[in-house]
Amino acid sequence: MSEKNYNMVDAPEGYVGEGFFATKLSSVVGLARANSMWPLPFATSCCGIEFMATMAATYDVARFGSERMSFSPRQADMLMVMGTISKKMAPILRQVYEQMAEPKWVIAVGACACSGGIFDTYSVLQGIDKVIPVDVYVPGCPPRPEQILDGVLRLQEIVKSEAANRRGTQEYDDLLKSYNINK
Ligand code: SF4
Repeated sequence: MSEKNYNMVDAPEGYVGEGFFATKLSSVVGLARANSMWPLPFATSCCGIEFMATMAATYDVARFGSERMSFSPRQADMLMVMGTISKKMAPILRQVYEQMAEPKWVIAVGACACSGGIFDTYSVLQGIDKVIPVDVYVPGCPPRPEQILDGVLRLQEIVKSEAANRRGTQEYDDLLKSYNINK
């Protein structure tokens, strides 16, 4: 029988010696956070259907530790906005974002969430980053499930490299202040 080596996740940078491995606390926290992102699917239209496919067996977002959907903002840390967001809906999206506990991240899925898409009209928000900060933009109308997974993987890279105390920094305060959001 052939011997197989399984590599579940890449270890963070560190020092390896006989019987020990040492790394930074930030790296360990980032690794744990990145591989257990709990999504809150904020789906308003067609891109939401692609997300359903992303959750289903063929694409299986559970492979990346994100199978636990949350429809409660308190128990989610990855807000995925999928679909056209009307200006009337914008305050609700913002309220959902504000109700999420720190640390939290946002993926704009599809052209509508990124920029309003084809709906350059008086009633449609021209991108969710007009009301909340966005970490990853996934283009496409609609994006395929592979693209949505790519967005999740890119967010994982951001989360892995984020300083454990970023949420307490002046820079983060300033970012929220620029959106008139209180911590
Ligand atoms: S980006 Fe295209 S597919 Fe997605 S919600 Fe907008 S119109 Fe629908």
